[in-house]
Amino acid sequence: MSETFDVAVIGAGPGGYVAAIRCAQLGLNTVCIDEWKNSKGKASLGGTCLNVGCIPSKALLESSENYFQIKHKVSAHGITTEHVSVDVPVMIARKDKIVTTFTAGIASLFKKNKVKSVHGKGTLLKRENSANSWQIKVDDNGNTETIQAKHVIVATGSVPRSLPFAPIDNDMILDNAGALALTEVPKRLGVIGAGVIGLEMGSVWRRLGAEVTILEAMPGFLMAADEQIAKEAKNIFAKEAGLQINTGVNIQSVKTSNNTVIINYTDSNNQEQISEVDKLIVAIGRIPNTTGLGVKENGLLLDERGFIVVDQYCRTNLPNVYAVGDVVRGPMLAHKASEEGVAIAEMVMHNEKGQASESEAVDFNIIPWVIYTAPEIAWVGKNEQELRAAGIAYKAGQFPFIANGRARAMGETSGFIKVLADEKTDRVLGVHMIGPHVSELISEAVMAMKFSASSQDIACIVHAHPSLSEVFHEAALGVDKRALHI
Ligand SMILES: Cc1cc2nc3c(=O)[nH]c(=O)nc-3n(C[C@H](O)[C@H](O)[C@H](O)COP(=O)(O)OP(=O)(O)OC[C@H]3O[C@@H](n4cnc5c(N)ncnc54)[C@H](O)[C@@H]3O)c2cc1C
Repeated sequence: MSETFDVAVIGAGPGGYVAAIRCAQLGLNTVCIDEWKNSKGKASLGGTCLNVGCIPSKALLESSENYFQIKHKVSAHGITTEHVSVDVPVMIARKDKIVTTFTAGIASLFKKNKVKSVHGKGTLLKRENSANSWQIKVDDNGNTETIQAKHVIVATGSVPRSLPFAPIDNDMILDNAGALALTEVPKRLGVIGAGVIGLEMGSVWRRLGAEVTILEAMPGFLMAADEQIAKEAKNIFAKEAGLQINTGVNIQSVKTSNNTVIINYTDSNNQEQISEVDKLIVAIGRIPNTTGLGVKENGLLLDERGFIVVDQYCRTNLPNVYAVGDVVRGPMLAHKASEEGVAIAEMVMHNEKGQASESEAVDFNIIPWVIYTAPEIAWVGKNEQELRAAGIAYKAGQFPFIANGRARAMGETSGFIKVLADEKTDRVLGVHMIGPHVSELISEAVMAMKFSASSQDIACIVHAHPSLSEVFHEAALGVDKRALHI
């Protein structure tokens, strides 16, 4: 007899594990099926985010930034250091410990919330029309079991997009997992792709001393960001020793020979170029993961790029089957995945209990984006080019970190914050930041937009002095041309 649940969640990344916990909190009998195994071959919850994504990358960004500060910046504070060196295996072991603490933490959260955790690959079996529940085959290394559930939440995430002529071996040609597990600093590091992952991975190894060359196919830099922010970022990064960013390139071939990776490409002027590096990271985006899920057998609808098609409430074309996170449209961000997971859990609970309730769609316009480079980049809402394209009249207020006392004290004066507000209503339409700790500062802007604040509302809020948050305050004041400290 197969076990029966109210909800089966397939995938325990930030979309799936959060959905499972919320379902269980709401009284639904819930199972979460996940196939991830770590490098030691052990089951490890948390998906890409915890195992080879958000958390390990931030651990290494923190370590490498500390090293960089001590080596190159603390002398300005009158602090002298000698023989500063880095023990990469220790740094990697620290990162691994953070990962295992968090992945084990999810197992504890499942226990606490009475979510049943099952390890193995989940496949939706073909369902008879008359059936009122789904059967999921779970295969754990040949040991199979069948689980029955009324509702299914698919949260199978994404996998790195591959470059056919640069197969990943995680020795010389690396994906994100390999880039997070290097045991020594490569002298010369190539990165294909100047997206978030490429920039963050490049930053880690550049701060530790690698000569980093980033090759990007798109003609511009950070094209998803506000143009002015992208320009500022490019200017700042261009001044950094050991970092070269080439946009508009066309990669012709990638070959390995004598411990060297040789990349042939044409540059933005159509000139043939060769780059030789010791390690190459391929970070050209991620694709939705639906392999072995039972898509064809059940007629689960995918779009032309392979994403599971869902409506604004994350409902698929199959009855009682929902999908969240990287496997569906929208930004590939952990917090977006989790938010969708919570929204579905609540919708399923209301349906199950026959309670009338408005389902809430996740509003992508107030999802914050962060790039953890130095300086950090963050934004929420619309940027200037989007507002212009949509014909929306707006006012802009801007304030630089260099005029902020706390930023000066920290010695982190690059960048600025820009607030965009509707010309007539003054409602905040977008906030764009580049500077120190903007990954934290952006939350105030998200909250302001969630509560439909005007720039005037933000201007009326008292901000602690001296703090970086005063830059946001002054940018909001700047919308009405009344910034005080510039
Ligand atoms: C290097 C890197 C850095 C990143 N940094 C950030 C960041 O700072 N902030 C941020 O918001 N986002 C970041 N991301 C993106 C973030 O990791 C993803 O958006 C997020 O993990 C998506 O969550 P998810 O639950 O949809 O899928 P995933 O986290 O990919 O989890 C999917 C899970 O489903 C499992 N699975 C798949 N198919 C099956 C099946 N058939 N049966 C059972 N299990 C299955 C997988 O093994 C996996 O465990 C980063 C990504 C990378 C690669």
